[in-house]
Amino acid sequence: TQKIEKALAEERCFWSFEYFPPKTEAGVINLYDRMERMYQLGPEFIDVTWNAGGSSSDVTMQVCTTAQSVYGLETCMHLTCTNMPREKIDIALKDAKAAGIQNILALRGDPPRGQENWTKCETGFSYAEDLVKYIREEYGDYFCIGVAGYPEGHTENQDPEHDMKHLKNKVDAGADYIVTQLFYDVDIFLKWHEECRKVGITIPILPGIMPIQNFGGFKRMTSLCKTYVPDSIYAALEPIKEDDKAVKDYGVQLAVDMCNQMKAAGIRGFHFYTLNLERSTRLILEGLEFIAPIPQVRPLPWNPSLAKNRE
Ligand code: FAD
Repeated sequence: TQKIEKALAEERCFWSFEYFPPKTEAGVINLYDRMERMYQLGPEFIDVTWNAGGSSSDVTMQVCTTAQSVYGLETCMHLTCTNMPREKIDIALKDAKAAGIQNILALRGDPPRGQENWTKCETGFSYAEDLVKYIREEYGDYFCIGVAGYPEGHTENQDPEHDMKHLKNKVDAGADYIVTQLFYDVDIFLKWHEECRKVGITIPILPGIMPIQNFGGFKRMTSLCKTYVPDSIYAALEPIKEDDKAVKDYGVQLAVDMCNQMKAAGIRGFHFYTLNLERSTRLILEGLEFIAPIPQVRPLPWNPSLAKNRE
């Protein structure tokens, strides 16, 4: 059985972690170390992003294969379908299957850097829906397929109804679950979630949570994704924005509050954009009481009298 599907079908809370492929070999080794430690946090699955156009697809594949076959983490590989040759998609799916990976997040991908607008591709894959259909045609039910959803609408689409219609088409093409774009206003997410149900989307929807790690990164990310940020968040961040530790701690508390609000509304699965970092995600899971606090190994405090005795 495919574990993601299994978790989705059960009546319990679960969580998953997203990582991105590091740029250097040392970064990959660091990530493995982190993944191994974060295994203790009990993610139902992990996923690894795919650089649009496939520029670092080898690293994505390498990390996914290791996570699945060495660490035994149920792994989902992201796969975009535009701006790269169709053969690359075929190879990615074949290699994923050979590595025992049974989960794919099927995406369109963003336009190449410097190109704002989207133009149709030669390969025949213009939208994520095309990729979902293709995977189903070629592999039947072998893969559990996730797709992306946008509670605030996709940045290219000004009409929420069109967006919803296209999401429904993706689901009808054979998607098993939806992971959302990051957001910081739970009411927007819950309202959109309700809209999804109204148009007949019945598959599980996992909210994507990005813990705030530092003020600059938060501002960059929310402006890139055109995310709505409630005034209360800016008001809380403004006085502490130079203090990274305070910002991180605020980010943890905010995510705990957001998840609790969603949990109260019946949401059971939570997807964390870890940014390859461990601490915030761990503290959020502890704050939600999903896991017991994990004691951290700290270096012994510097003790001058001990040092003196040793002299
Ligand atoms: P689609 O579902 O194809 O939608 C794209 C746009 O086209 C939408 O505006 C939609 O309304 C519109 N549309 C869909 N079908 C039609 C149609 N038939 N006619 C007209 N318009 C249509 N990017 C990466 O490069 N790598 C990643 O690993 C990655 N991971 C992501 C994970 C998550 C959870 C999310 C939310 C996004 C991720 N992205 C990633 C970003 C994603 O590639 C971009 O947001 C991209 O612009 C859209 O991808 P999509 O799969 O949602 O596209």
